[in-house]
Amino acid sequence: AIPLVVAVSTALSARNGLLIRNRTSFEKARNINAIIFDKTGTLTRGEFGVTDVISTDETLDNESILKYAASLEAYSEHPIARGVAVESKDHLPVENFKSTPGKGVEGIVGGKTVNVVSSGYLKEIGLEFKDEKVDEVLSQGKTTVFVMVDGQVKGAIALADIIRPESRETIARLKEMGIKCLMITGDKAEVAEWVSQEVGLDQYFAEVLPSDKAKKVKEIQEEGLIVAMTGDGINDAPALAQADVGIAIGAGTDVAIEAADIILVRSNPLDALHIIQLARSTYRKML
Ligand code: ADP
Ligand code: MG
Repeated sequence: AIPLVVAVSTALSARNGLLIRNRTSFEKARNINAIIFDKTGTLTRGEFGVTDVISTDETLDNESILKYAASLEAYSEHPIARGVAVESKDHLPVENFKSTPGKGVEGIVGGKTVNVVSSGYLKEIGLEFKDEKVDEVLSQGKTTVFVMVDGQVKGAIALADIIRPESRETIARLKEMGIKCLMITGDKAEVAEWVSQEVGLDQYFAEVLPSDKAKKVKEIQEEGLIVAMTGDGINDAPALAQADVGIAIGAGTDVAIEAADIILVRSNPLDALHIIQLARSTYRKML
């Protein structure tokens, strides 16, 4: 039988938008001493707007760079893609669309091969890229993707996401409770550094590929920490499953929700704090 206090807590939490799918994990939540947040969509809203288009090759102007990128990104569900796609009104026809999680997208756009990719991917294919204007937008904490046409980098697009207003308070209060606060992201170190400063994190891991997020969680557990992980994306599902307590942001993808022990219906990071507080008070009453 479920102890009465647990039943009451579960009902109470549901009314407050905290859905407990796994009671054993909820019990563990009282003992966690580290929490890892995914950046995009968790600490930030995951709603990107284009702030700068940078042409890095005189053969293609800003408008064309944006048109190629936007046409292609219209086929991707990624939050970055949504920001880019809406930025250009006239879209070219796309064939052979292909998406590589954590790296970018590719397709034939108006007869040309177009890629919109991360800097990590450029490095991987030996096209390491240095540009003053790109460095400047990165230092401003903007997420930057690169546009390639027929195998050559033609420009970059910078986007700004919005840090959720509750993120800072969440981190401050978790730290007061003695919980180490970390962030994991596929984005660049510069962007991660900026978000980390803004919200007051203890540590972050940047340019982590989707397939490595769960491995990172495991490494932290191997340091002897009991770990909660909060995420929203398809990319986060294995890491949520690996964590002692997997917490999905409710507005996230079905895959993340399936992998999670606890779901935060309101997409508010403060609710991650609330669930830990609730676990602590629930199981204290039982002892
Ligand atoms: P996060 O961990 O912040 O949720 P992802 O792992 O989804 O990020 O993506 C990591 C990086 O891969 C992005 O910052 C971006 O550079 C690149 N990327 C992923 N998907 C796309 C896309 N559809 N268009 C352009 N770039 C993308
Ligand atoms: Mg994400």
